[in-house]
Amino acid sequence: MEPQEAVLSVRSLKVVFSGFQALKGVDLEVGDREIVTIIGPNGAGKSTLLDAIVGKSPVASGHVYYQGQEITNKSPYAISRLGIGRKFQNPNVYNELTVFENLLLSLKGTHSVLASIRAKLTSGKREKIELVLDRVGLLDKAFTKVASLSHGQKQWVEIGMVLAQDPSIVLLDEPTAGMTPDETHLTGEIIKSISQTHSVVVIEHDMEFVKQIAQRIVVLHQGEKLTEGSVRDVQSNPKVIEVYLGRERIDAAA
Ligand code: ADP
Ligand code: MG
Repeated sequence: MEPQEAVLSVRSLKVVFSGFQALKGVDLEVGDREIVTIIGPNGAGKSTLLDAIVGKSPVASGHVYYQGQEITNKSPYAISRLGIGRKFQNPNVYNELTVFENLLLSLKGTHSVLASIRAKLTSGKREKIELVLDRVGLLDKAFTKVASLSHGQKQWVEIGMVLAQDPSIVLLDEPTAGMTPDETHLTGEIIKSISQTHSVVVIEHDMEFVKQIAQRIVVLHQGEKLTEGSVRDVQSNPKVIEVYLGRERIDAAA
């Protein structure tokens, strides 16, 4: 895929933290409405890759293109405005506000908590929020305070907050961390639904979940791309079994 064809294109990306190479020249292509799942052992550089894409970690060399435009080392704010949405590992929601209010705050052009809650809501904004809530399965929780939601539901609020910003690509860092098996499965269905209209990059550990959503899997290891391919390709790859899947089995047996 040429940079102008891919929604997101990462070329030979290097990130260095005081001499330590967290990414040693990684390539990644994400197509329109494609789900790319990134797996790999702890410390492989998965979160760093997303950080570098969104301008949160400085890129030492290499390039990031979004819709054919170079965005390498632009500010996180500028990158988010262009249409790259990122959900971090820990939920970052306002517990004392309702689900609806949290989403209202994320809409483009909204700046202050009080101003946006007091402002008369346009029907456009209301519809937009309802569509997003429906998508993340929280329509019936719209007027519930976030504080009283389950951990999984809070994660969905945050996914909704990312969608409310109108991105065309959504980057999710371990969205199922701490979820029950049922919540994990529902998250997979939410991600598949999002991918009908958005490109999605998901970092994930749970292989059942990866199988549920995965179209293409990228395996990172020690700052490098070990391989990429289908679930089947990756699961049968001896290098992947050695550094990642094999170890998981040993951990499970212990
Ligand atoms: P993963 O998400 O795959 O578990 P990370 O991308 O968080 O891995 O980290 C990759 C490596 O980079 C780790 O060795 C980590 O300690 C290091 N690292 C990540 N962020 C920083 C930082 N801000 N400063 C220094 N080292 C970092
Ligand atoms: Mg991480």
